[in-house]
Amino acid sequence: MKVIVVSGGVISGLGKGITTSSLGRLLKARGIPVTILKIDPYLNVDAGTMNPYQHGEVFVLDDGTEADLDLGNYERFLGQSLSGTHNLTTGKIYRAVIEKERRGDYLGNTVQIIPHVTGEIKRTIREVCQAAGADVILVEVGGTVGDIESMPFLEALRELSYELGEGHMAFVHTTLVPVVGPVGEAKTKPTQHSVRELRAIGIRPNLIIARGPTPLTADIKAKISLFCDVRPEAVISVPDQPVIYEVPLVLEAQGVGSILTRLLGLPERQPDFTAWKEFLANYRAAERTIEVAVVGKYTELRDAYLSHSEAFHHVQGHLGVEIRLQWYDSEDIPRNPALLGRLERSDAILVPGGFGARGVEGKIRSIAIARTKGIPYLGVCYGFQMAAVEFARNVLELPQANTTEVDSACPDPVVCLLEEQKGVNALGGTMRLGAQRVVLSPGSRVAEIYGKTEIWERHRHRYEINPEYLERFRKAGLVVTGRSVDGRVEVFEASDHPFFLGVQFHPEFLSRPESPHPLYLAFVRAALARKEVAHPVGAPSAVA
Ligand code: GLN
Repeated sequence: MKVIVVSGGVISGLGKGITTSSLGRLLKARGIPVTILKIDPYLNVDAGTMNPYQHGEVFVLDDGTEADLDLGNYERFLGQSLSGTHNLTTGKIYRAVIEKERRGDYLGNTVQIIPHVTGEIKRTIREVCQAAGADVILVEVGGTVGDIESMPFLEALRELSYELGEGHMAFVHTTLVPVVGPVGEAKTKPTQHSVRELRAIGIRPNLIIARGPTPLTADIKAKISLFCDVRPEAVISVPDQPVIYEVPLVLEAQGVGSILTRLLGLPERQPDFTAWKEFLANYRAAERTIEVAVVGKYTELRDAYLSHSEAFHHVQGHLGVEIRLQWYDSEDIPRNPALLGRLERSDAILVPGGFGARGVEGKIRSIAIARTKGIPYLGVCYGFQMAAVEFARNVLELPQANTTEVDSACPDPVVCLLEEQKGVNALGGTMRLGAQRVVLSPGSRVAEIYGKTEIWERHRHRYEINPEYLERFRKAGLVVTGRSVDGRVEVFEASDHPFFLGVQFHPEFLSRPESPHPLYLAFVRAALARKEVAHPVGAPSAVA
């Protein structure tokens, strides 16, 4: 087993997850089997109960784990699906240790952070690497070096490097090199301090990834090398990129791939980035532009909808069309008529997943605009359920239609609690979660988009479309075209609309740069087709 540890210094939010994913990609491009483990040093068992405002999107894995959003980056960069064991939290480790203690596994010993908690951490790392059949495991340590929370993890990794011996482990430290003052001077002091902090706990970094707004000069690299005891060629500059998928190439250009293979005694092969480079060339070459409105309630923090943004990046790299996302706070919509006007001019509208009553009326208004104005609409999870509410209210003329999530006593519950959810009180890990099989109706638009009638998609919900209303929906033009094996409504589409599609699942979690999700592709194509009719390329109106 070879291990690459990625730690972070100075501040959080430096793109450690992207760095880790990109390092994984460098090895994968060399044909080396690799996997990634994320350590989140918080006491939550998983990210499922965490507010997207604080922590960004909850990423759902095939096995139903509600994981940190970095798992999404790993899957996208590696093109591999991961399981819940790849997201380790303090909550999980402590739970395992306490369960062992209760069983009596420690045979009367005093149970301590060292060696019991650190031992559990090391055991998990080995297990995850082995189960993945990987030669190299990348371990990203969440938080910032110096935090109390991450201490046991860093200690465990230090112990592991001692146990594995020379040439088996590499430490990569990601830091910030801020640029300050009137002449834009790059400052190395924060990096020096955080490396000192790392060395105080017995870890000497092999590689420093310096983040910042601009590339580092040779002088600054030399200074970091000298003060931090890292070879000059191992000080890597990663300035902000227009799109994150550039990062593997930025690292490769500075020799990171061969530095790592040398450090770990891995075979040095020529990396293959053909498809990756094609994707980026296409992405950069985009000439035409479309505007997609995303209507949600966490729009202030873009990370809350990260997988949706990424899915659109993937489509951009595939179709060579620039996709500008316009974020609408659904709470503002009903009280701001100007927003409704802007929304009407967008090329497509997406309502993503969500929970609770706040902001739902704005979502419903947006869906009504998409439906009545023929604007392509994609409703994901809550956006799918809200489309049912909108249709019931405005087409079936059931003005009080709602989901029981918002109004438990409403007379027309077109969306209601899943049978098995009745009586479930705990919030953690109790939704209908993970990959489920969906059967699509032959001849439907959705089956045509996927090019097949059986798909697997990831889920995260408690409520579902109430089957009692389906016949009325169908007669009025909203047709169910996808169901789970046990008969739940998974997809519907409006028959007399250029593109009006709702899905109970989360297609955004499965989109990857090298294989964009078919639903996002079709959605953007529909937006392009509509724009083309309104403003044909070359027509005077397109110029104006
Ligand atoms: N709140 C809805 C439900 O629980 C939708 C969930 C979601 O959008 N992820 O069913």
